[in-house]
Formats: sequence, C-alpha cells, structure tokens
Amino acid sequence: MNEYDSDRIYDLTSTVGFNKTDIKKEADCFVLNTCHIREKATEKVYHEVGRVKKDFRNLKKPLVIVSGCVAQAESNEMIKREPYIDMVIGPQSYHKIGDLILDYERRKKKINETEFDVVGKFDLLEKIPNSQNKISAYLTIQEGCDKFCHFCVVPYTRGPEYSRPFDKIIKEAKNLVASGAKEIVLLGQNVNAYNYNKKYKLSSLIRELNDIKNLKRIRFTTSHPKDMTEDLINCYKDCEKLMPILHLPIQSGSNKILQLMNRKHNREYYISIIEKLKKIDKNIKISSDFIVGYPDETENDFQDTMKLINKVGFVNSYSFIFSPRPGTPAATKKLNNLSEVKLRLQKLQNTLDNLQHKNNKAYLQKNCEVLIENKLNNQEKYFGRTRYMTPVVLEADNCKPGDIVNVNITSCSQKSLFGICKTNKVKAA
Ligand code: SAM
Ligand code: SF4
Repeated sequence: MNEYDSDRIYDLTSTVGFNKTDIKKEADCFVLNTCHIREKATEKVYHEVGRVKKDFRNLKKPLVIVSGCVAQAESNEMIKREPYIDMVIGPQSYHKIGDLILDYERRKKKINETEFDVVGKFDLLEKIPNSQNKISAYLTIQEGCDKFCHFCVVPYTRGPEYSRPFDKIIKEAKNLVASGAKEIVLLGQNVNAYNYNKKYKLSSLIRELNDIKNLKRIRFTTSHPKDMTEDLINCYKDCEKLMPILHLPIQSGSNKILQLMNRKHNREYYISIIEKLKKIDKNIKISSDFIVGYPDETENDFQDTMKLINKVGFVNSYSFIFSPRPGTPAATKKLNNLSEVKLRLQKLQNTLDNLQHKNNKAYLQKNCEVLIENKLNNQEKYFGRTRYMTPVVLEADNCKPGDIVNVNITSCSQKSLFGICKTNKVKAA
C-alpha cells in the first residue's frame, strides 16, 4: 500500500512542479513515506533523515517531508526530535501535499498535517491521473481497519474502515489497463472487508474486473480470515483471471494466542477456509504472516504454529518477532525472553524457507506461465512472475514487457526461478 501511496504522492508533487531525480544531491525535496507497523520501521526513518542531513551538510537544505503512518503516530514529536524535518503528513491527508509545499515555501513554517480525511483524499486523487505505467499495477480499494488486533497500530494510524466507491475503482482499473497494466493487485489493509453501500463487495469488484478485455491477471491483498466469505471463495471457481494464490495471515497456530491477539478467528476456522479453496482448485496455494514471541506464547503454542505450517505447506510467507507498539493493548504485556524468541523465529523461518525452496524445485525442467514485467537493467534478461507470484528471471528472444510467455525453468533458488523462453509463440498480451 505504501508503494501505491508513494506513486500517488509523486503524481501530486508533480502538479506543483517537481520531477523525480535519481541523483540524490540534486534533490530539492525528499519525501519519506513511512511504515509504523514495527518499531524498527520507525527508527529507519530517523536514520534516513540523518543520512540526508549528512549529504546536504555543505549544500542548500532540501525540503524534508515525512509522510505515512510514522508521521501520523509521532506527529509533532518528529519535528521536535529531528528539526531537520520540515513537514509531517499522515496517510489520510497526503492529497494536500502540493498545497502544503506551496504554503511552506511562502511562510517557511513547520507543518503538521495529520487529519483523517480519507474521503477528501480519494475525491482529489480521482482527479489526478495515476501515472504508475506498470505491467502489474496496484489499486487501493479499501483503507483502515475496525478489527483492533491487540498488537496492531493500523486502526490508529490509518483510521476506521473505508471502502472507495465501486464505479470509481472500476474507472481507475480501466485507466490502468488502458495505460498498459496487465495485472491489477487490489489493495486494502483488510481488502476483503471491502463493502460499498452494503451492495458491492470484493467479489463484485473481482467479477467486474474479470470482464475487462486486456486485463490478464487479478490479485488482492491483504485479507482477514474472518472476511473470507462464500461469495469471495466462489470467485476462484468462476473468475479465470483471479490468480490461484491467496495471502491469508494467521499470525499464530495456537488458539490461545489467537484469542489473546483478538484475532476473531481460530485455527480450525482458518483450516476450513483452505479446505474450501482446495475443493475448488487443489492447486491453490496459501501464503501467510506469522508473529513469533507474542506475550504469553509458550513452547507448546509455538509448536502449534509449526504444526500448522507443516500441515498447510505455506509459500512466500512473512514472519516477525512481536514488536510492542505504543497505544495498543499488547504493548503493556510482559515480553518473552528475546533470545528464546529469536531461536523460535529462526526455526520458523527455516521451515518456511525450506517449503518455499521445495515448491520452487518442483518447477525444475517444467514449463510455467510467466507475465513479463520488465527488462533487467544492463542485461538481455527479463523479469516476470508466475501465476503464484514467484519471481522469474528469464532469457527470451522476441518478447516484451506485458507478454505472457511459457518459460522452461532450468534452475532455482529459494526465492526465484530462472529459465528460458524457447518458443516464439507467446500469448497475445
Ligand atoms: N490486515 C492483515 C491481517 O489481518 O492479517 C494484516 C496487515 S498488517 C498491516 C501486516 C502484518 O504485520 C501482520 O499480518 C502482522 O503479521 C505484522 N504485524 C503487525 N503488527 C505487528 C507487531 N506489533 N509486531 C510484529 N508484527 C506485526
Ligand atoms: Fe492490524 Fe490486520 Fe488486525 Fe486490522 S485486522 S488490526 S490491520 S492485523
């Protein structure tokens, strides 16, 4: 979602005369679009501002803007801690960035803009063309969260659940396709909680996108298990453009921990969703998020998570050590012993890595369908992704970004596949 927001922030700053530069020292303005999900992310922001400060020690000071969820959570405190920062802008008010820059240039007064104005934001964004021009394009359909998992800052930094109007999303999707997108990734903190006017759900959007002629692939992320309703599950049956992989965070395999986290689902319910999906298509794959070392997690709880991982056989998953976030209910709970937690994380990540590697090895010497996203810099090779999102580096003679090609996989690493596109026959993009 931050990638989508960053692209849109760029679109907005270009309306007041800014262009992107790859030469750091030539920049007049830095926008650091930030994430507040774990503590490490917050500290990285201050380090990055420190680096800009150092680089510009003998040069004219650039305008330094911190946007995103760190700005929302820390607000004025950021400017107090690091006066090199000129402006903080929360994730629901970044549409004002152009006016705020002009205002700063006039008055040279520090700015703190952290209002929740999500309706105003999308109203304005709809008037400014999305210039992503990517083969795989992000499209935000929903923001915020009402679920209040006890570890998570999102309900406080992004605000309550908001679903964008159905017709505006379809219009943006059609524009993205007209400017070259072949894949659309629908985004939301709780993407499957999308509900516009109690009439349109995520399944309605997927069905409508499925009929857009030049669109080839549809994905959505991130989903909450509680909102995996039958109508959405049935899209995997009816919509051939919906890719057969679902990112469905579970966080823990222990019912005790899931309850302490206020996750509103248990392990059995989670498994029942996967069973329903596999009944539709046995080749559907699942990826997930895991938090290790949540307060009160015992070795038995951790083993429940490991058993679940082996039972489901996840691919491409993410795992984190619990990070206490100020203001959330879990932040005041007693932490587990850090060295034990680190060992647990390592065991869990080893298992996830092995599953991923095993999954990739199964492709060796086989053909798989790849959507080419771009040509690699200074190389004759291309980068693309399989239907399951796995990155592929391939050699090919007569293809271009946007083509869907058959690639013979010759080698693999844990994360990526490598291959050759031998046939001249490519699917018309
Ligand atoms: N809405 C999604 C869901 O319900 O699963 C998750 C979105 S959250 C922005 C992304 C991931 O960050 C979570 O799935 C969780 O694993 C991780 N996360 C969130 N808060 C965390 C914390 N305090 N410590 C460690 N990981 C955290
Ligand atoms: Fe955070 Fe997801 Fe829980 Fe909402 S549902 S509080 S975004 S982890």
